[in-house]
Amino acid sequence: MITGTTKLLGVMGYPVEHSLSPVMHNAALTQMNLDFAYLPFPIAPVNLEIAIAGFATMGIVGLSVTIPHKQAIMTLLDHISDLALGVGAVNTVTRQNHQWVGTNTDVEGFISPLQTTYQRDWSDARALIIGNGGAARAVVVGCNQLGIKKIDVVGRNIFKLKEFREGWGNSSFAEHLQVHNWDGLPELLPHANLLVNTTPVGMHPHVDVSPLSNDDIGLVAKDTVAYDLIYTPSPTKFLSDAQTAGIVAIDGLEMLVQQGVAALKIWLERDDIPVDVMRKALRQRLFGK
Ligand code: NAP
Repeated sequence: MITGTTKLLGVMGYPVEHSLSPVMHNAALTQMNLDFAYLPFPIAPVNLEIAIAGFATMGIVGLSVTIPHKQAIMTLLDHISDLALGVGAVNTVTRQNHQWVGTNTDVEGFISPLQTTYQRDWSDARALIIGNGGAARAVVVGCNQLGIKKIDVVGRNIFKLKEFREGWGNSSFAEHLQVHNWDGLPELLPHANLLVNTTPVGMHPHVDVSPLSNDDIGLVAKDTVAYDLIYTPSPTKFLSDAQTAGIVAIDGLEMLVQQGVAALKIWLERDDIPVDVMRKALRQRLFGK
């Protein structure tokens, strides 16, 4: 129930209507019986600065930040975590002592299944990341956190790839990272222990396409983990083809859930977040079960 003391959380994006965050976060807040509400805020880029000032005035507790504000908001914050600076994007902000603090929970979301259900010693593994957009940057940082020493990134645009590579400057990730154009795939695929699709190829409604051909999948070793950041459909064609070839497959739903759990921990300053309730609410919304 909304009362005179209800505290406010929300997601800021443009558009934001498609966001699943309100479903997941309100399910958790209700389960925890907290006097909080989590709302969607469609904020056009031109209004970002004024919106941030307004949110501060309203005493909002925290916000999820999504496209197109993940980079633009960085100039408006008082403090940004090293992790978010490393990724180059903020997806979670909180008000602390009348200041805006930004961080990035996508990295924690991405690595979570690789540290739990699919845990192994990743330090001797080699990662192959397909795509070089915003999510790929979080995946690179996540691979680095897992201790992976060799990270290959494949993309379709050599100029953007070079920019992606140069974006890491002299950071500790840089020495582990190599970029390749699409033609490099046949040579790279057999050596990948972790294969991550960070492109939107295969996402609903284009469910019949995959970034990898059947020939490509045939080159992947059977003990590789195939990971698609896409969560609808589940599985994507990429993951379905991988499973048919006997390869372990992870979809993007757990990343979505776990980045949300990490954000709630920050906003509520507690660790007992009902992750099962959040996962169930998302599955119900996405798949009706
Ligand atoms: P983005 O910044 O737009 O990057 C997309 C990347 O995919 C770019 O490198 C782009 O290449 C490449 N790409 C797009 N279409 C392609 C095609 N037809 N063939 C080859 N490459 C193609 O997007 P993003 O924010 O990184 O998001 C990427 C995906 O991750 C989306 O599906 C998103 O839903 C998903 N995601 C999931 C989670 C989660 O919690 N599970 C979190 C974040 C993102 P160019 O650079 O050449 O254009």
